[in-house]
Amino acid sequence: MGKIIIEARINELAPRDENPNVPYLPAEIVRDAKACHDAGASILHYHGRTADGAPEHAASFYLETNAGIRAQCPILIHPTLGYVANDADAMGRFAAVEEMMKDAGTAPDFAPMDVGSVNVDWWNPAENRFDTTDLIYKNSTETLLHFAERITHHNLKHYLVSWNVSFTRQIEAFLKMGVIPEPAHILIVLTDGIMLAGHPGTPAGLDAQTAFMPNDHRVTWTASNYKGDLLLLTEKIIKDGGHISIGLGDYPYAEYARDGRPPTNADIIARVVEQARALGREPAT
Ligand code: ZN
Repeated sequence: MGKIIIEARINELAPRDENPNVPYLPAEIVRDAKACHDAGASILHYHGRTADGAPEHAASFYLETNAGIRAQCPILIHPTLGYVANDADAMGRFAAVEEMMKDAGTAPDFAPMDVGSVNVDWWNPAENRFDTTDLIYKNSTETLLHFAERITHHNLKHYLVSWNVSFTRQIEAFLKMGVIPEPAHILIVLTDGIMLAGHPGTPAGLDAQTAFMPNDHRVTWTASNYKGDLLLLTEKIIKDGGHISIGLGDYPYAEYARDGRPPTNADIIARVVEQARALGREPAT
């Protein structure tokens, strides 16, 4: 089995109440990028955040952050397009990437495409009700074709995201159309706890996704667990030949505290590296 690609998903829109080590501001993200790279991660995924933790979409945030990361280490950069927090039109959602591409020193390596649409309301399992009822993560085919063309135009790598099998089928359609080049890298987003939009973060949930990977094409797959503990699945993913996308953005990992100190993103990456090496897979650089 080949090397394992480990992606650090350092912040998403996660709060600091369960783990204060979630980075928000550019300097904090740059510091985490270096630490995660040194621990064995080869891709960094981050969201722009304000000092209060709110979503921040200003292009200046990405320019400062990417330049800072480039000055520190060669980790591959995968910024967000803003998820549901940036509900603009296709060109508006891609505007920050267009700004990043004006200077090689601020260019990322990937731009994401969530290849489908899904309800992303917050489920409250303690009270059996939804805390929100109107959050749709909307990615029309027209929007996705715009992203695919712009990502190719800029010679970036398409970072393909699948929340369920219908997303995976649309990825396969795009591969058949030739709008996404091979090899394709696909993130399987499992979800648990307060998020129901993906497959459950269980062996069965993962297997139901990997069964439909478009293996007639050259693809690699990685998996994350939004709002759930991916460390419960990492041994299976490593043995199944997948790659791993993990970090405090998806889950606080507070139960993995040592000496009362909750883990940092780099601590989580180091755990995965140790497990992968024990199972015979070196981390990719
Ligand atoms: Zn994200």
